Amino acid sequence: MALEAILLDFDGTIVDTTELIYQSMRHATRKVLGREISREVLMANVGQPLPRQMELLDPEKAHQLLRSYSLFNEEHHDALIRELPGVEASLARLHQAGLNLAVVTSKRLPSVLMTLGSLSVLRNVVDVFVTMEDTAEHKPHPAPLLKGLELLGNVPPEKAAYIGDAPFDVAAARAAGVVSVAVSWGAFTEEALRAASADHLFPNLDSAVDYLLALNG
Ligand SMILES: [Mg+2]
Repeated sequence: MALEAILLDFDGTIVDTTELIYQSMRHATRKVLGREISREVLMANVGQPLPRQMELLDPEKAHQLLRSYSLFNEEHHDALIRELPGVEASLARLHQAGLNLAVVTSKRLPSVLMTLGSLSVLRNVVDVFVTMEDTAEHKPHPAPLLKGLELLGNVPPEKAAYIGDAPFDVAAARAAGVVSVAVSWGAFTEEALRAASADHLFPNLDSAVDYLLALNG
């Protein structure tokens, strides 16, 4: 099978925002709901749009949760995000192999741009971004992935793979008809990704890229 395009999730897949997300969630729920919620519960819906995650935590206070999260997130963004090792080189290898790359994320564009501003390495290799504003439906719905394929020049789904760190990414890939590749260095464990039945599971992006390039011969 010759692949033409690789779609990539953002948080937890090509940038290490897991701690920033967790601490923002913990801050917002402590402040707005006045109680401690386990890390597992706070992180269970990461990968879906933030407004949706907040509705799932407390439908009546979702707006306040979102506001509190966003304020904390902006203030602590630069201190808490980290590069993931080897990402720039991995993306460059895909690019050099002639594969078209697009980031497909549930995040808002300003938030993606804020992170790219801190980690400038990524801007050189990926130029197509599908963010929350671009589709009405969100992962696990296939719409954002299909939008990415359209922007890359109508790549057929069977000639594409989606790399992500969340069970929602695996589900969205399946719904879109693209190969699902899960990496376990983000917000979810290997067990959770295995339970989601990813087509392929790797500890990091570099080993996922090794596999995809070998597949492409
Ligand atoms: Mg993610």
